[in-house]
Amino acid sequence: MSSYSDNSKISPNNAHQARKRFGQNFLHDQNIIHKIIHAIQPKKSQNIVEIGPGQGALSYPLLDTLGKLTAVEIDRDLIAILNRQSTEHGKLIIHEADALKFNFHQLAKTGNKLRLVGNLPYNISTPLIFHLLEFLDVIDDMHFMLQKEVVQRMAAEPNTKIYGRLSVMLQWYCDVDYLFDIPANAFIPAPKIVSSLVRLRPKAQPLSTLNNPDQFAKLVRRVFQQRRKTLRNTLKQYLTEADIQALGIAPTARPETLSLLDFATLSNAIKVPIQ
Ligand code: SAM
Repeated sequence: MSSYSDNSKISPNNAHQARKRFGQNFLHDQNIIHKIIHAIQPKKSQNIVEIGPGQGALSYPLLDTLGKLTAVEIDRDLIAILNRQSTEHGKLIIHEADALKFNFHQLAKTGNKLRLVGNLPYNISTPLIFHLLEFLDVIDDMHFMLQKEVVQRMAAEPNTKIYGRLSVMLQWYCDVDYLFDIPANAFIPAPKIVSSLVRLRPKAQPLSTLNNPDQFAKLVRRVFQQRRKTLRNTLKQYLTEADIQALGIAPTARPETLSLLDFATLSNAIKVPIQ
């Protein structure tokens, strides 16, 4: 029987049964919560936005410091509980929305950049991270709890099995700091995986100029869709072997051996739109 339907694993305040479809695993270990808040270092007047506040495990300590917090939550039942319980901690402004479709630009209208935090639902974490890349112009930093393997992929170096699309796209746009692991028993219900806290900070300066960021994203996706193939093969519609060679990149290279700058060089050299 899954822990989601096991009544003994009902969340701590006994008011809400964790929903698997919303990836609900609620933090309950106070030491871990304290460690996460310490890593975030919230300061009054900062525009902190929590994705998926759940039952307030992080929201309430954040509110105690900030007095005011914005959150995006999809589960209407949790919003009702949060609205009732948050008042003694501060002003919690909740947007009932799917974070995957949410326009984060609307929260930065005051000119105060966003600090995003969240214990993200595992089932949507990678698409959510890609969605958030569209809002980097209004983001100061992000602290997320994710499946450990996802954080390892974010921080991966070239020439490793886990270096891929997520590593290249994130590292191009952000500095990635793998902070610490969080054991499964820090959550109710306990997930079957270990989590990690990661800090992402949009880079002040890009490593080099990208002529066409959309083309770069398509190139990275395309080559890693066929990660066992050589560049000569995957890119034959766009560049000849001699073209690749002339860029100082081996046509027989596989994508996991390329540096971030190699991807930028290739993308800038391709003149036709990548499918
Ligand atoms: N922050 C709480 C904690 O640490 O205990 C809850 C974390 S729980 C892993 C994930 C939270 O994200 C839940 O509150 C869930 O309802 C919410 N959620 C799931 N999918 C969402 C989505 N697409 N948009 C916004 N919130 C979502």
